[in-house]
Amino acid sequence: MASTFYAGFEPGYLPVKVRFGAGIRHEIAEEMAALGLTRALVLTTPEQAEKGEAVQSALGAFACGLFSRATMHTPVEITEAALQAASGADCVVALGGGSTIGLAKAIALRTDLPQIVLPTTYAGSEATPVIGQTANGIKETQRTPKVQPEVILYDPELVATLPVNLTVTSGLNAMAHAIEALYARDRTLLSDQLAIGGLRAFKDGLLRVIADPGALVAREHTQFGAWLCGSVLAQVGMALHHKLCHTLGGTFDLPHAETHAILLPHSAAYNAVAAQRELAPVAELFGGSVGGGLHDFATALGAPLALRTLGLTEVDLDRAADLAVKNPYWNPRPIERDSIRALLQRAWEGTRPE
Ligand code: NAD
Repeated sequence: MASTFYAGFEPGYLPVKVRFGAGIRHEIAEEMAALGLTRALVLTTPEQAEKGEAVQSALGAFACGLFSRATMHTPVEITEAALQAASGADCVVALGGGSTIGLAKAIALRTDLPQIVLPTTYAGSEATPVIGQTANGIKETQRTPKVQPEVILYDPELVATLPVNLTVTSGLNAMAHAIEALYARDRTLLSDQLAIGGLRAFKDGLLRVIADPGALVAREHTQFGAWLCGSVLAQVGMALHHKLCHTLGGTFDLPHAETHAILLPHSAAYNAVAAQRELAPVAELFGGSVGGGLHDFATALGAPLALRTLGLTEVDLDRAADLAVKNPYWNPRPIERDSIRALLQRAWEGTRPE
């Protein structure tokens, strides 16, 4: 038989139920009943505890408690406290961003409890079988189907409260997954389509959301983008951009989403030299050059543009460049110390990449 375009294409996809819609958060009990579940522990961050209380009280007898101490980077001490709270539960309901969903995953990893998640940012953790956990100050990431949430409910009313600055950086953070996926070594026909669809949804939705943060149709559009960009992260490996963000975040304690937002046009411009064909959809969507188009989009959103505004000093750039080239890893363009140092300089100043 003649080989086809799709020969060898075998997407691995975990069974997940995904629903979208304003007010869908009121259907958690129905989702629990469909899975034969009766006692949920509700999870939130301290800031979103009130929202968690509302969910808990709406669930009535279907809720067995609220644990509202979810924290960035999933520290194991918090997970241990949450496990005690989960002792009478047969599932967890996570309402929040990547931090809260990370806690749900940490509980599932240890107990196999099913997860129903209601994302309130665009980070996309809900769509991945990946978990990062921090013990003794060191964050370790693993990939296992055990942590993939079973049900995702995207309610645009929940993300409508995300402040504009977080909306922008969280959206650009999600887009970074899609851009790196386009040139990933293990990309597939499916990951390409997910990435392009995710970028298009954010391009169309984010500007409308910034103009009117309560616009539910536009919010839903961006949540669709978040799902696609998260799904793509589940499919392929990341490269230079994520490595740089990890280095700057870990060593200089820079904030996660802002660092992603600032570096994205620069890391994409760096790789566009070697991955012009793969990144052509980005140039087409954002106009002209890959890095310049993304920079103009970030500027139109009012995103932070310069690393110096995050407190990084110019003196730190040499060390950051040294660390970024220290452990070799795959990237479409070779990682050269001087070119990386020049990239960091531009990102520090906030200049438009060529
Ligand atoms: P987050 O969950 O830490 O939330 C940031 C802040 O915004 C918190 O204070 C939270 O209470 C608040 N917040 C969230 N949604 C809100 C809303 N709608 N309205 C008002 N306030 C709201 O931020 P994040 O960027 O979603 O998650 C970051 C974490 O997720 C990191 O630890 C990152 O490593 C992880 N992550 C993991 C994966 C994965 O696949 N495992 C993917 C992406 C991110």
